[in-house]
Amino acid sequence: MIQPVDIKLGRYWHVLDDGRIQCDVCPRYCKLHEGQRGLCFVRARQSDQIVLTTYGRSSGFCIDPIEKKPLNHFLPGTPVLSFGTAGCNLTCKFCQNWDISKARDLDRIQDTASPEKIAEAAVRSGCRSVAFTYNDPVIFLEYAVDVAQACRERGIMTVAVSAGYISPEPRIEFFRHMDAANIDLKGFSEGFYKTLCSGRLAPVLETLEYLKHETNVWFEITTLLIPGENDSPAEIEAESAWVMDRLGPDVPLHFTAFHPDWKLTDRPPTPPETMREARRIATNAGLHYVYTGNIHDPAGQTTHCHACGAILIGRDWYDITAWHLSADSRCTKCGTRCAGVFEADAGRWGPRRQRVRLRAFDPEPSVH
Ligand code: SF4
Repeated sequence: MIQPVDIKLGRYWHVLDDGRIQCDVCPRYCKLHEGQRGLCFVRARQSDQIVLTTYGRSSGFCIDPIEKKPLNHFLPGTPVLSFGTAGCNLTCKFCQNWDISKARDLDRIQDTASPEKIAEAAVRSGCRSVAFTYNDPVIFLEYAVDVAQACRERGIMTVAVSAGYISPEPRIEFFRHMDAANIDLKGFSEGFYKTLCSGRLAPVLETLEYLKHETNVWFEITTLLIPGENDSPAEIEAESAWVMDRLGPDVPLHFTAFHPDWKLTDRPPTPPETMREARRIATNAGLHYVYTGNIHDPAGQTTHCHACGAILIGRDWYDITAWHLSADSRCTKCGTRCAGVFEADAGRWGPRRQRVRLRAFDPEPSVH
């Protein structure tokens, strides 16, 4: 019997003719006998139901700059209360958060956090949003949705940092509660997904089209460029052309640099020239907002007006160095609107990363 601190009945599963229970949350469709866990490790069959074994538990909270998610067109310069749980539904050999995503010891995720407490912490720490990040929130859907609802009640927005590997029905519920997302498009070939992530590309593309055409969620895309695996000009051209054709020019695309990690330590870091070339290719394909990340490249981190070329938002790592947007999100030089969710001015959080103990936000004991 699984004995985590908090068990929550899962949604999206059904019983198969052979007696196994199929989890329908993601395209893995794990088929489980009693006592088994799914590939993500956190959803399990217990007493003939699928349960989420990490509800209300977190691997830790930090306040990050929103640019770190990365989101460059969503409340720039503001702090975001960020957390994850444990486990993942992909098995990326290049995982950059493997200590969390591969966690098998649920006791490691010590912080207990109710949705209301997370929303309270966000309000009291001055955050504008809460991000589900560090591991994929798809696998803890019930918890993420409850947190998002508690946040909305307090005027706090929510951000999903996800690989978008989710089935059609739960996708509707999940994204209905999100205000923004960064979707990891890990490569642009089925071969890459199969070999390095044991997943499939097609469901991720479906999620991206769903977000664009069926929701109001603001989303940006990130592709980690791994030397020799997904960084060929042909693959970047194909990805850029698909984004342009299916999603349009206004969806920001971030190329981030790989650093050897987890099981892929025999590859070098991505050369800066590869990053700049990728940005050139995507810009030439017609995309309005293309960025480089994980390298020092202020030019590649700057938002330009796609109509007149003026700098709209200058960045140096996570610092905002220039702001030339009007209060209604237009270029102050030519008046063209910049796509995204902006306030009248940039936030002033800067590049700081601050660890947060949720217990600091417990109500103070009353004095009698
Ligand atoms: S969410 Fe987890 S248990 Fe469900 S199908 Fe995906 S990997 Fe399997």
